[in-house]
Amino acid sequence: MNRREFLMSTLAVFALSALPKLTLAEKIAVSDSVKAQINTHNKLGFGFMRLPLKNKEDQTSIDYEELNKMVDTFLERGFTYFDTAWMYMGYESEVAIRKSLVERYPRNRYTVASKMPIGYLKKPEDQEEIFNKQLEKTGLDYFDYYLVHNVNANTIDNARKYKTFQFIADKKKAGKIKKIGFSFHDKPELLEEVLKEHPEVDFVQLQINYIDWDNVSIQSRKCYEVAQKYNKPVVVMEPVKGGSLALVPESVEKIFKQAEPNMSVASWAIRYAASLDGVMMVLSGMSNMEQLEDNTSYMQNFKPLDDKEMNVVENAVKALHAAVTIPCTACKYCVEFCPMKIAIPDYFALYNAEKQERMDKPFNAQRMYYANLIKTHGKASSCVGCKMCERHCPQHIEISKWMKEVAKTFEG
Ligand code: SF4
Ligand code: SF4
Repeated sequence: MNRREFLMSTLAVFALSALPKLTLAEKIAVSDSVKAQINTHNKLGFGFMRLPLKNKEDQTSIDYEELNKMVDTFLERGFTYFDTAWMYMGYESEVAIRKSLVERYPRNRYTVASKMPIGYLKKPEDQEEIFNKQLEKTGLDYFDYYLVHNVNANTIDNARKYKTFQFIADKKKAGKIKKIGFSFHDKPELLEEVLKEHPEVDFVQLQINYIDWDNVSIQSRKCYEVAQKYNKPVVVMEPVKGGSLALVPESVEKIFKQAEPNMSVASWAIRYAASLDGVMMVLSGMSNMEQLEDNTSYMQNFKPLDDKEMNVVENAVKALHAAVTIPCTACKYCVEFCPMKIAIPDYFALYNAEKQERMDKPFNAQRMYYANLIKTHGKASSCVGCKMCERHCPQHIEISKWMKEVAKTFEG
């Protein structure tokens, strides 16, 4: 995949919001009990959500030869945490945990986190069925970490109705889970509400990256502060924002490369998240050996960003905000709910790439890709505004509104 293709497929957008206050010196208070649970030398988690593929059109065509090598190297370098979920990789991610890890290594070499997909529950008994199936798929007797997946204003009702937190607490009591938590995509006020309701959780999983730190919609910093107020260690998801902070526009890349020519652009994003005292793990969805070699190289003897490095990140953030687009991370949670079969993340990636290119470009690749996509998917203009997709979007994107812009850009 060349640079342009990568940008089009993964480059996320950076919503106009107040610039992040990137002052780690500001030092948000972290309790000793949280600090005691954190191993600074083992803060990198392997996210099984963007695994190497044999056929890039088929999420289930996992390239096990490559994946096994990646798992071997990850473990050899002293890392232990693997993160999976029910629906990742077209429902094959948990199977990949079994094949590449559980069947190849003794149980004391690794820890595994999986999640209960509350958005998919139709009745309380689904939880038992899914949980047992997850144990079967992974080949595990118990999970080291288990989360209520994607808690937000739309899904919390399901969790309450089906008593999902009680369900996972009972599993913990029964020895089927070591530590319980939840992943969260919403406002700090709701996070506080959930933590008040559920003091029993051991940790929370939050989206934290330097571009979202003070983003008005994502509010990473405020959520992090709430987690610390309730003494919960944090697992960070999307530190590289779906890959978009790994391959930034050239102007931004220059800022990083001038500061540290030998460090990758992604390293700044991962080290930024890992530098927060209350963070126990930073998940990286690694897709190939090159990414794994890179991530493990600076996380093995991890050093938090110093003040000078924080200034570099701050300058990069200012440059990124100059490229205003749509904050889609290409997670695809929305796709299956669209009655018009609109390729939502693909169209957003194309729109972003279009807005970040020179207007006088000789060749418009985005239009070509768009024309190809609408042969098999609904056009942006066929959006009926039902907002089914928006209920499932962890980034809270007003998808139906943006579809009008996409249509104007590519169909006008
Ligand atoms: S609002 Fe538009 S894009 Fe979203 S699910 Fe409905 S038709 Fe699809
Ligand atoms: S759910 Fe939101 S972030 Fe995920 S692909 Fe859809 S629009 Fe993008």
